[in-house]
Amino acid sequence: MLIDCGSSEGYPDLRRNLAALGIAPGDIRRVLATHGHWDHLSGFASLRADHGGMLELYIHEADRAQVEQGDPERTAAFLYGKPFPPLPVAGLLQDGETVRAGAFALTVLHTPGHSPGSVSFLLDTNAGRVLIAGDTLWGGYHPRVGSDLEAWSQSLDKLLGHDFDLLTFGHLPPTLVYDAKTKVAEARKQLGVYFNPWFKPFCETFRY
Ligand SMILES: [Zn+2]
Ligand SMILES: [Zn+2]
Repeated sequence: MLIDCGSSEGYPDLRRNLAALGIAPGDIRRVLATHGHWDHLSGFASLRADHGGMLELYIHEADRAQVEQGDPERTAAFLYGKPFPPLPVAGLLQDGETVRAGAFALTVLHTPGHSPGSVSFLLDTNAGRVLIAGDTLWGGYHPRVGSDLEAWSQSLDKLLGHDFDLLTFGHLPPTLVYDAKTKVAEARKQLGVYFNPWFKPFCETFRY
């Protein structure tokens, strides 16, 4: 099971990283999406092409249609100037459900705000409980992808109602963040306090 699979542009990196772990594309049975954005999911089409068998995509209902239709707005593809390949959704992720992955169990938490169908996962490991937050932590806000500050605040409160030791999120170099509960509490205080209308999309070079 793989949580998110990156973009079509990043697919060579995904393949290389999987190979370093001794995993071939065909070994993956299911991709669980933290949400339906281009940078997290458009690589699914390449992964499926290399797979040669059954590869299932699971996502929350509220981000489902945009992925099946390849909607350039809601998938945030417009931010990258690339198309989003329409993807078949095999199953839905429900708030509170447990998804088994081999010896592990993932708890799904619906945490809308960055996008309506954003979810986070809790995963118990030998090293402690890990929060896998996708873009619910420090993701971008954009009305065109259906971001909602009020829902986002409630989602961060919801996360703070759970215990976890470590966290990882969407736009982070591959590492784990310790003292995770404190970091989420800081993120909750920081959310939406200052909006800079001169902010340029990150794909453009900023110049005064
Ligand atoms: Zn996103
Ligand atoms: Zn993202």
